[in-house]
Amino acid sequence: MTAHKLPPVAETATFPVATDVRVGGDDKQTRFVVDFSQKIDVAAFTLADPYRVVIDLPQVVFKLPPQAGDRGRGLVKAFRYGLIMQGGSRIVLDTKGPVRVDKTFTLAAADGQPARLVIDMTATDRDSFLRNIALQDHVPHIAKANVSEAPAADGDARPLVVLDPGHGGIDSGTKSGSGQDEKDVVLAFGLALRDKLLKSGKYRVAMTRSDDTFIPLTERVQFARARKAALFISIHADSIPRSEGQAEGASVYTLSAKASDAEAGRLAEVENKSDVIAGVDLTSEPNDVASILIDLAQRETKAFSLQFARDLVGEFKGSTRMHQHPLKAAGFIVLKAPDVPSVLVELGYMSTKDDLKNLMSKEWRSRTADSVAHAIDAFFAQRVAGRTGAGGN
Ligand code: ZN
Repeated sequence: MTAHKLPPVAETATFPVATDVRVGGDDKQTRFVVDFSQKIDVAAFTLADPYRVVIDLPQVVFKLPPQAGDRGRGLVKAFRYGLIMQGGSRIVLDTKGPVRVDKTFTLAAADGQPARLVIDMTATDRDSFLRNIALQDHVPHIAKANVSEAPAADGDARPLVVLDPGHGGIDSGTKSGSGQDEKDVVLAFGLALRDKLLKSGKYRVAMTRSDDTFIPLTERVQFARARKAALFISIHADSIPRSEGQAEGASVYTLSAKASDAEAGRLAEVENKSDVIAGVDLTSEPNDVASILIDLAQRETKAFSLQFARDLVGEFKGSTRMHQHPLKAAGFIVLKAPDVPSVLVELGYMSTKDDLKNLMSKEWRSRTADSVAHAIDAFFAQRVAGRTGAGGN
């Protein structure tokens, strides 16, 4: 089933390989150990709210046992790992409370033992934890993937559509019961949609990511703004815990400071966690969506966003399963560009069997991407008809 492995991640033999991981200790002291195929340089730092230890590494290939990281031990609640940018990988430990990193060291392979990364942590209090953060000399940063340096349009007047497959790299998004990651499903959909749009010849298309790379939420917004995109479509897939019953079908979301219903609010909260999951320091980011100023420009953008969302729901009705309330609004960080009409599509539920079957199907993907393309056509046709010259930037 080739559809289940999408898309291939470059796995070059030259990258060090993480082969195993162990967490030992108790609620006072915990040691985190990763085996590597060769010795590597690492830098560890801590972040508050929620408490995390972030370990930055050169790009490595993770070949850890399945479910590694789902449950920790001692001070480590759980952990994640993956690519954070080209050339850089990251491990993020969620800790049960404030911790002090006592020691971080790497050992070369010796005496039949693989090379190892060792992190020793001790429980501490919040004040000391925050003081240590202030003293940290490693400034956590993610290389900006040139997101704000937009290439010139070369006089090309066709509208630019920005496709934004959610998550990526260290942030896998939600997971199906059988282990498929949202980040792969939505990337496959984004690439299929891009190909269709390019083939039509009517649009320029740019993608916030076209491989398994992590992109912070605000950079996705900046990416679209810097390029003066005419439309921004963020692509996701949802899931709900079994205890909350069943849900199915596609939904389309627009930005609103107040969620249209409890489910929309929950979803925005989950999707907005992407940066926290990846160990991004949010202290300098005004991410409180409720504080977004709804100025005049945004009011117009809002109307266009809603118009496209309606077009999209209309097209979906003929081609795929829909959620019973398919048009919703909530405070998604990724939708907050004040000057780019933006919607977030949840293609379906990874937790629902029939939805997952669709999401993994090439045929469904193609059919559904067709309906998004039709909705894009309808959207720009209306804009050109409604406002002279509004079809461009
Ligand atoms: Zn998502």
